[in-house]
Amino acid sequence: MTENDKELKIVYDYEWLLDRAYSKLPMRRSSKAYDIPSLEIEYVGDHTMVKNFGFICNRIRREPRIAMRFFLKELAMPGSLDERNNLVVYRRVTQKSLYELYNRFLETYVRCATCGSYDTELGREGKVWYIQCLACGAKTYVKPV
Ligand SMILES: [Zn+2]
Repeated sequence: MTENDKELKIVYDYEWLLDRAYSKLPMRRSSKAYDIPSLEIEYVGDHTMVKNFGFICNRIRREPRIAMRFFLKELAMPGSLDERNNLVVYRRVTQKSLYELYNRFLETYVRCATCGSYDTELGREGKVWYIQCLACGAKTYVKPV
């Protein structure tokens, strides 16, 4: 291989890599429903615990306090977050009710209404709340929790 060939090969490799990088762009992965963790529910006495609540909130980029507020408000029940940001409801809540609320929270406060991605952030402008999509950039206004 001559010096010139080597240089050509490098250029070729670089363009090939660049092509590859670009061809991968439309495939950019954005979180879909099946990437969202399911709830790990446990009953302790008459309390209901969502043992992976902190993990879920981290995964969907939401403050545990806000998600908790939504759940407790909708359930109209008392509760709190434990030291690991996991939800404790001071009542027995059926798995069905928890899943209904979880789905409602995801639909209303996480999922991008434009592209369906779950890679979003919740933003605030004063009293106005919105979802900012990290996949398509759309901004959707939502009701404050
Ligand atoms: Zn989007």
